[in-house]
Amino acid sequence: MLVYYRETGDEDVRFKVLYCGICHSDLHSIKNEWGNSIYRMVPGHEIVGEVTEVGGKVTKVKVGIGCLVGACHSCDNCVNDLENYCPKWTLTYNSINT
Ligand SMILES: [Zn+2]
Ligand SMILES: [Zn+2]
Repeated sequence: MLVYYRETGDEDVRFKVLYCGICHSDLHSIKNEWGNSIYRMVPGHEIVGEVTEVGGKVTKVKVGIGCLVGACHSCDNCVNDLENYCPKWTLTYNSINT
């Protein structure tokens, strides 16, 4: 089941997207040129926004949003600071939020 929305977690920062750039990666995804597109899709991962909510364990709010926004933090890749190879990663878009 695809999850399009979830509550703000203890370590999450929720923000309102104000502006977003579109780069060539987005165009590849829109056209399914990498063969992994998930539709309905809202492309864009170069985002500027305004923080609207922080989780209970957030002590500093510094937000930089890239393409990778989440990982499991427990697999071999994650514990070796290679979250970009995590099999359970969460991307800004075209990804299943687990
Ligand atoms: Zn990009
Ligand atoms: Zn991981």
